[in-house]
Amino acid sequence: MADIIVVGAGLSGSLAAIMLSRRGFQVTIVDRYLTYPAELRAEQIVGSQLRIFDDLGLSEKLFSGVRLVSRVRNVRLGKQLTTVLASHYGMPYQDIVHAVRGQIPDDVRFIVGRVTDIDTGSDPVVHLDNGQTVAAKLVIMATGLNTTLSKRLGVHHQTISAQHSTTVAFDILSPKCAAGDTPILVYYGNGLQDRIDYLTIFPCKGVLRGNLFVYRDPLDPWVRQFRRAPLETLLEVLPVLRDELGEFSVEHVQCRASDVAVVRDHQRNGVVYIGDAYQTPCPAAGTGIGRLAVDVERLAFHVTRWFAANDLSVSSLQSYYNDPVKCRSDRKALKSAQFRRSVSMDPALRWAVHRQNVKAKRFAKYVLQRVVHAGLDLAAYYGRSTTPGRSSRHYSVRPDGA
Ligand SMILES: Cc1cc2nc3c(=O)[nH]c(=O)nc-3n(C[C@H](O)[C@H](O)[C@H](O)COP(=O)(O)OP(=O)(O)OC[C@H]3O[C@@H](n4cnc5c(N)ncnc54)[C@H](O)[C@@H]3O)c2cc1C
Repeated sequence: MADIIVVGAGLSGSLAAIMLSRRGFQVTIVDRYLTYPAELRAEQIVGSQLRIFDDLGLSEKLFSGVRLVSRVRNVRLGKQLTTVLASHYGMPYQDIVHAVRGQIPDDVRFIVGRVTDIDTGSDPVVHLDNGQTVAAKLVIMATGLNTTLSKRLGVHHQTISAQHSTTVAFDILSPKCAAGDTPILVYYGNGLQDRIDYLTIFPCKGVLRGNLFVYRDPLDPWVRQFRRAPLETLLEVLPVLRDELGEFSVEHVQCRASDVAVVRDHQRNGVVYIGDAYQTPCPAAGTGIGRLAVDVERLAFHVTRWFAANDLSVSSLQSYYNDPVKCRSDRKALKSAQFRRSVSMDPALRWAVHRQNVKAKRFAKYVLQRVVHAGLDLAAYYGRSTTPGRSSRHYSVRPDGA
C-alpha cells in the first residue's frame, strides 16, 4: 500500500508528487494520459509564480532553452504607461507539465489510467478503468477541470461566476518584431464597450504568442468574428498594435471560456483537493499557478503532521483547508477575478467612480512627472547659464519658449 496516491499528473499533481516524495512518502501518481495533451491553459510563468520551481530546484531544467524575458511594457490607450522588470517565461502548458513530470523522482510509481471511483474510508482504495485497484492512506485529488470523479464521490463544484472570461490565444507573425527580441507587451482595453481586459504578447517556443482576455462568452458574435477574421477584429479594438508589430498576421486562434468555481461538500476521510480541482481561477487574473503552488506547499506541510499523528480523518484534514496562507490565496484569487471583470466592464456607479479615480491618479502622476522634468530642465538651464561649461541634461524647448 502506498502512503499517498495523487490522482492527476497536471501541474499541481506533479508538483505535489515531487514535494511529498522528497519528504520521504511513498507516492503513486495516476493520470489518464501518459503525455499531457495539447490544451489551452497557462502559457506564461511570471514573477512570483517562479518561486515554487526555484524552491524545488526545478527551474534550471524546466526553463533550459526557454528564453527569459525580464522587461514588461504596459500600453494603455496607445500610450506606454510603465516598463516593469519581472521575469517571464513563455511555454505551452503541455511542455510545462511534461518538464515537471520529468522531474518526478524514480521511486514514485506512475500509473496511466483513469480513476473511476474511490472507496473513501480509513484507507481509501482507488479504482481504475482497467479494473486495477490501489490502496493508500491519503488520496490527493488533482484532477483539474474534470469533475466526473468528484461527482461520483458526491462532491460538487459551486459556480461562483459562469463563463467568467474567455481566453483567446494565437500566434503572431510579424516581420518587424521577432520572437527573440521583444519585451512582453501588455495592451489594456479601451473602455467598457470592448469588454477587453488586456492582451499580452510574448515569445513562446520560437513564435510570438498573443493571449487576449475578454469578458464575453465564446458564442458571442465578437468572439465568432475574431475566429473568422482575427487580424481585422484585433486591429479594430487595438489599432495601436500596428505601431509595434508593423504588418503582422494572426494564426492558430484558440478560444476557451473559464468558469470560476469552488469545490463544495468535499470533506472525506483520507481525501484532499488541490489546484483547479479545489478552485478554478480566472485566467485574466493570472492566479492559477500561484494558487496551486500555495496549495501544494501548504499541503506538504500538513501531510507531514497528519502522518506523524497517524490521523487522516476529516477533522484532521481540515487544518489544510483552514490554513491561513491557503485561505488568503484562495480569497485573493476570487477577489482578483471579480475585480478585473468589474473594473473592465461593470457600468455600475461604484466601478465608474473607481475608473475615474484611476484615471485621475494616472493623470496626476503624469503631471507630476512633467513638473519634475520641467524642474530638472529649468535647473539645468540656469545651471548652464551661470556655470560655464556645464551642459544641460536633455531639453528640447527652453523654459522661456525660445
Ligand atoms: C485558457 C486558460 C488560460 C490560463 N492562463 C493562465 C495564466 O496565464 N496564468 C495562470 O497562472 N493560470 C492560468 N490558467 C490556469 C492554470 O492553467 C491552471 O490553474 C492549472 O493548469 C491547473 O493545474 P492542475 O494541475 O490543477 O490541473 P490540470 O493541469 O488540468 O491537471 C489535471 C490532471 O488530472 C488528470 N485527470 C483528471 N481526471 C482524472 C481521472 N479521473 N483519472 C486520472 N487522471 C485524471 C488530467 O488528465 C490532468 O492531467 C489558465 C487556464 C485556462 C483554462
